[in-house]
Amino acid sequence: MLLRRLRHVMADGGDKQMRLNRTVELIAASMNAAVCSVYLRRGNDALELCATEGLNPEAVHNTVLRFGEGLVGDIAQHKRSLNLSDAPSHPRFAYRPETGEDPFKSFVGVPILRGGDVTGVLVVQNSTERLFVDEEVEALQTVAMVLSEMLTATGEGLADEDVAPDAPRVFHGIGHNDGIAMGHVVLHEPRVEVTKLISDDTEEEGRRLSSAIYKLRRNVDKMLATEDVSHAGEHLAVLETYRMFANDRGWLRRIQDAVRSGLTAEAAVERVNNAMRARLSRHRDSYLRDRMHDFEDLSNRLLRILTGRAQLASEDKLPRDAIIMARTMGPADLLDYDRRKIRGLVLEEAAMGAHVTIVARALNIPLVGDLRGIVASARDGHEIIVDADQGEVHLNPASDIIDAYSNRARLQARRQKRYARIKHLPAVTRDGVDIQLNMNAGLMVDVENLQESGAQDIGLFRTELQFMVAARMPRETEQLAVYKNVLNAVGERDVVFRTLDIGGDKVLPYLRTRPEENPAMGWRAMRMALDRPGLVRHQLRALLKAAAGRQLSIMFPLITTVEEFERSRDLLLKEQDRLRKFGHEVPSNLRIGTMLEVPALVWQLDRLLPQLDFLSIGTNDLMQFFFASDRGNPMTGDRYDILSLPSLRLLSHVREMCEKYEVPVSLCGELGGRPLEAMTLLGLGFRSFSLPSATVGPVKRMVRSANYERLKTAVGDALASSSEDLRGQLKAIADAQGVKL
Ligand code: PEP
Ligand code: MG
Repeated sequence: MLLRRLRHVMADGGDKQMRLNRTVELIAASMNAAVCSVYLRRGNDALELCATEGLNPEAVHNTVLRFGEGLVGDIAQHKRSLNLSDAPSHPRFAYRPETGEDPFKSFVGVPILRGGDVTGVLVVQNSTERLFVDEEVEALQTVAMVLSEMLTATGEGLADEDVAPDAPRVFHGIGHNDGIAMGHVVLHEPRVEVTKLISDDTEEEGRRLSSAIYKLRRNVDKMLATEDVSHAGEHLAVLETYRMFANDRGWLRRIQDAVRSGLTAEAAVERVNNAMRARLSRHRDSYLRDRMHDFEDLSNRLLRILTGRAQLASEDKLPRDAIIMARTMGPADLLDYDRRKIRGLVLEEAAMGAHVTIVARALNIPLVGDLRGIVASARDGHEIIVDADQGEVHLNPASDIIDAYSNRARLQARRQKRYARIKHLPAVTRDGVDIQLNMNAGLMVDVENLQESGAQDIGLFRTELQFMVAARMPRETEQLAVYKNVLNAVGERDVVFRTLDIGGDKVLPYLRTRPEENPAMGWRAMRMALDRPGLVRHQLRALLKAAAGRQLSIMFPLITTVEEFERSRDLLLKEQDRLRKFGHEVPSNLRIGTMLEVPALVWQLDRLLPQLDFLSIGTNDLMQFFFASDRGNPMTGDRYDILSLPSLRLLSHVREMCEKYEVPVSLCGELGGRPLEAMTLLGLGFRSFSLPSATVGPVKRMVRSANYERLKTAVGDALASSSEDLRGQLKAIADAQGVKL
């Protein structure tokens, strides 16, 4: 009834203030409330009382609260509803004498949301001390949604400044993947605007909803059935998550309830999505926040089915220089696009650990996330520059900005061409020393870069990525399929598989572990595996089966003591024996190594090395522990220069020990991907590196321009010189010897 009446108010036309007044009156009457008030957003963080029934009318347009101030400000700031039996006793209550709200005790307020942004707050109050029941709160949320539409239609309550749609704008966010991209905006799924909110026929809307849900489930099943097996693992797991959500009873019931309350099917989907977004975005658990994107993706798919616009943007014609832009996006969507045409990715919300971020990194797509409001400002075809190095996005950039970036892009392209030319040439120094340049990978999409990168083998395969993008623990058969695919894709080349390195920042959504104060130094990697060997046993079995009849290289992460290595190796050998016993073919050559990531292990090398087939130095972790300096924290990540005496002495010692015990050593941290750093390591006598794929080109160019013996002498002298500015000295060596950095 209330919704229908509100619709009449909307249709009535006339003065905005009158309509607002009429609205609060109606809501108060139908909810039996003494007070109903609407606060609308003004500017960035103010809320102005714009209409009230029950409070002092003088306060209208005079009472203003900031975001976070008082109960109303709290609702806006946290995008959540508040339901209180005694509002004045709440610590957040801000008393405003001009409103005359003293006698009112019970209070329920809900945010008025538009596309995820708060445009106002709707409040009802009563003098009796009682909690409003859930149905009343939900009804008020529905009314808030209708009100939001009404306000948008009349141009009220919008926070956007008056900016011409094509004006140049810069947005600052967080770069999740390096690189610069220039191109044209392609809005991923242009928003489905829900225009009709109140249904004429509730039963008919219910039927439309059921049929759309049926289609949605069928779509997801079909996608799963036709999924290309070469992407088994990452892509499939994501779709499995969708299937799980599409069958989530709670979600569907809430939409059905909203339809029964008088909304159209589309409005009901939007309404539940808004509430879900508000709830999940408050969560501190980043896994839940990331899952919100999957839910939104599914809601959008459902809306497209309901509005008959099931065609996905990714199926349309893409420009050759597409910069995909979305508020949020699931990883499956990104994989739907033609990779060759995507230059960059811009997301309003993207967390470091979000699946889409992992996939973008694997695909080498520059990505900037955390850009509030950019989608509302952009149109399809707008010019755009994505600077993921700086975390900046220029929308409709002015010509001087375009010129500056074009220059940078030209330089980059020229460099890329140079790298492409040497792709098939060996990484050999001018004095004929062969250097092994391998690449790091973690998803099947990385492996596909092997040819393109110019790398020889895969020196580090981070197996945990398959687990991180999955909705549930991958089964042994699924792991086997991924490892087989990887091995088939590389053919004769070698792949060093690292067993699961989970824990720390590598969170598995479905694996509950206790919160830790220092997760990077906590119960992770082999520590977890040795305490609970079930998981790693399955993994080892899958790896051994996948490499039947061929060479298999396996290493263990975060080994801290020799004993940990021995126990890990014994687990592996036991699995191999077991397979043999059951008549399975085993790898023709099993190479067992370990990562060196913990400084303590450096002082056990004399006992460790005789037992190893190879050693791989993970400088990302080794250096964070060596310098006691968190690698993921911008305040400390780059604080200590690895091109300094302590770290280079450490690395030099490790290399010498490996030479003494004749154990091949390789370096697989990001460090080796920077030409000056790689040159220095060459000078320390390192001859094998595993690098991020995009850095193989620049490092190969450096190698081919260097003279190994001369470098060794010069770097040795520099280390002995006790200079303060080692980095400067190393640059000077590069200059003097004509090493191309
Ligand atoms: C390292 O620590 O250097 C390493 C290669 O492992 P990850 O970056 O996966 O921790
Ligand atoms: Mg590591």
